[in-house]
Amino acid sequence: MQAMDRVQKERLSEGLCRDDLEATTSSERLQEDNYRNFGEATRNASRRTKLYRLRYLQQSIEIQQQTFTFNDLEKRHKFEPHWDKTKFQWRHMNKKEDRCCIYTNGSKLRGRVGCASVCILNKVEMFSDQKRLSDEASVYMAELKAIESAINLANSHHYSSVKIISDSRSVLQALCNPNNCTSPISFLKSLLRSSTTSCELIWTKAHVGTEGNKIADFYAKQATTREEVDLPTSLSTKYIKSAISKVIKSDWQQQWTTSLKGRAVHELCPLINIQRIHGNYFLNQVITGHGAIAYYQHKFFSSSPVCSCGKEIEDRDHLIYRCENWTAIRRKFFPKNFLNRTLVQLLTQKQARIGIELIMKIKLEKIIETLDT
Ligand SMILES: [Zn+2]
Repeated sequence: MQAMDRVQKERLSEGLCRDDLEATTSSERLQEDNYRNFGEATRNASRRTKLYRLRYLQQSIEIQQQTFTFNDLEKRHKFEPHWDKTKFQWRHMNKKEDRCCIYTNGSKLRGRVGCASVCILNKVEMFSDQKRLSDEASVYMAELKAIESAINLANSHHYSSVKIISDSRSVLQALCNPNNCTSPISFLKSLLRSSTTSCELIWTKAHVGTEGNKIADFYAKQATTREEVDLPTSLSTKYIKSAISKVIKSDWQQQWTTSLKGRAVHELCPLINIQRIHGNYFLNQVITGHGAIAYYQHKFFSSSPVCSCGKEIEDRDHLIYRCENWTAIRRKFFPKNFLNRTLVQLLTQKQARIGIELIMKIKLEKIIETLDT
């Protein structure tokens, strides 16, 4: 029994002695892991395994009844010859751009993706091009393909020089980056190099009323309504990662809903959340129901489950809502109608949280005092 007391005391004082309240005991860390870290580690491992199988072992993987093969994946040209490390500079758009301007835009609408380029000369629309991409394509890819189509349009109309005006800073920055070796960017760079039309790349801010940009946006949105996909595009790693994450999250949620473990936390947080929360040694004991609460201690140390007030078994609810030992703290920190508030509501309220933390802190100190004597 004495050995038990020592273990119990060590566990309890471990938390109290630490300066920062974020410190947690190892047993509590496990509880927290159940609650928030479990998913993160598993998710990362599972995502990496799947990506590794797809990218390096070139095996096909299945995500939500959809099969992805190595050939679907966007390739990287790691060993780019030095002459291919070209930088294509771009500049900001001036108020008045003369010469022939080709505005480009990409759009995602109702799960479909489209891109468009439109040539405007002296405020007159000369010609345009619209294409629908695979639904899996990103807006970035659509913006990139729109620039590709603009170069092709300029070449086919035998222009000597054009200005290509895009609102996608990320694509222009990728073109300007000599180390970007993704295959779509490499292809676009080679197209710019071999183009018979001299192309000047210009960036304009989106949605500020630039007429040409608005027209290109309209056409890109219209392109999403086309029956057939004109440009089947390869899948970016980002897309695959996000698809894998979705599946893992839904598996995790199902596991969290049906598991028999960590039910006290589940009662408070039934939905999984990948955003980390700050661990707090005292609050976590209330959240998990594990720690310096008589009912929980009774399970492990055969101590009495009855509260020191002698009225009830001391569980989470008794401690927070009913125990008369803490009436003064409740009066000071809790809202008046705290009995109508759920524990989650109290935990999300700053003042009430301070009160709950204080209750736990005093409780722990008292337990350690009794163990000392
Ligand atoms: Zn009590």
